[in-house]
Amino acid sequence: MKDSNCIFCKIAAGEIPSKTVYEDEKFRVVMDLGAASEGHALIIPKNHYANLMELDEETAAGVLPLAGKISRAMMKGLKCDGLNLVQNNGEEAGQTVMHFHLHVIPRYKGGAEVIEWKPGSPTAEEMEAAASRIKAEL
Ligand code: AMP
Ligand code: ZN
Repeated sequence: MKDSNCIFCKIAAGEIPSKTVYEDEKFRVVMDLGAASEGHALIIPKNHYANLMELDEETAAGVLPLAGKISRAMMKGLKCDGLNLVQNNGEEAGQTVMHFHLHVIPRYKGGAEVIEWKPGSPTAEEMEAAASRIKAEL
């Protein structure tokens, strides 16, 4: 399924040009226009899923092996020192393009910080309460 108003549907279909590093039947992997580091890539399914919650299981099952393949190529080809996988869901989580995508962000020694959060200190009760609320929906 495609969404005619979705920029990533158009990129994935090749209707909008992109710097593509990999393509197969289900996915296109492109260079991020606003790269956080040299080589920052996006894994984009060709079908439209707004986010992880909507992603079908078959596509989901293809994402991580592909991320591994791209990551291995980045480590060798870019000589990066590590990498982060980032996947934003919802505006509050920083998602700006509402078509599922996985960021593969190479990291270099001495390079800029890309992902950072201040560790909290929840009580055991707070952790138990949150865990219970999630478990109740599984
Ligand atoms: P997110 O904030 O997780 O939704 O990420 C959207 C990403 O898409 C950002 O990192 C943008 O830099 C990137 N982006 C937006 N438009 C394009 C485009 N036309 N080609 C490549 N990357 C894009
Ligand atoms: Zn789309």
